[in-house]
Amino acid sequence: MRTEARSTASGWACPGCESWSSRVHSSYLRFPADMPSGGLRVLLCLRVRRFACRVALCPRRTFVEQVPD
Ligand SMILES: [Zn+2]
Repeated sequence: MRTEARSTASGWACPGCESWSSRVHSSYLRFPADMPSGGLRVLLCLRVRRFACRVALCPRRTFVEQVPD
């Protein structure tokens, strides 16, 4: 059994300058852990997006959304 989870937020606040960005730079799959679930082992597959900050002077430029476990 394999579950793909993803954050549903359309954008994310940049941790460097706190401005909102909805420009997705890229995304990748992460496999945090396989968790026991009612006797079945579920492999959790998480799509994590990297956003591009729109602020030209921002020190971060790009950042990854924080997905709660
Ligand atoms: Zn920024």
